[in-house]
Amino acid sequence: MLRLKIEERDVYITQDDITKLDCECIVNAANKSLLGGGGVDGAIHRRAGAELLRECRTLGGCETGEAKITKGYNLPAKWVIHTVGPIYSGSKRDAKLLADCYRNSLELAAKYNIHSIAFPAISTGVYGYPLKEATEVAVQAVKKWLADNKDYSIEVIFCCFDKRTYDIYKAYADKNNI
Ligand code: ADP
Repeated sequence: MLRLKIEERDVYITQDDITKLDCECIVNAANKSLLGGGGVDGAIHRRAGAELLRECRTLGGCETGEAKITKGYNLPAKWVIHTVGPIYSGSKRDAKLLADCYRNSLELAAKYNIHSIAFPAISTGVYGYPLKEATEVAVQAVKKWLADNKDYSIEVIFCCFDKRTYDIYKAYADKNNI
């Protein structure tokens, strides 16, 4: 686990399974239906249990770049914020929509008085977003939100499932003197 300071807040890069993290809130890289899927979404639903799906059914789905919140049920995390990353297309809009996921998740976290949040590498699995580009968008979007919300204390964890993802986040932080 690597600890960084971004905008005077603690930001961690860790290689882990997000469903095991003992933080207040984890973010799910969901799809628009919010009814579960593969990858991190499937792992979160499996560990949280059937009650999570029951609550998700009441939410009416979620648009790309938006975020919705549920309880965490059997997860160690109290809350799950479900956000829908863009399916990578190679257009300029991808980066905006991916940044929206991070920003809207943090907005929702602040609204619920959440002070620790863990993000997976949204869109970099089945949705095909190139990892290096997605890492830059993720870190810069979080940095911007922290800069825009200086009075809000929050700890942010970038939870990398595999070593390749962890190494790319670490290399990005090193290269940018973060
Ligand atoms: P997307 O559809 O947004 O691409 P995926 O779940 O396919 O979502 O992949 C997003 C990222 O989540 C990938 O980097 C993948 O390796 C990672 N991931 C998969 N399972 C877990 C998990 N249990 N904890 C954290 N990250 C995970």
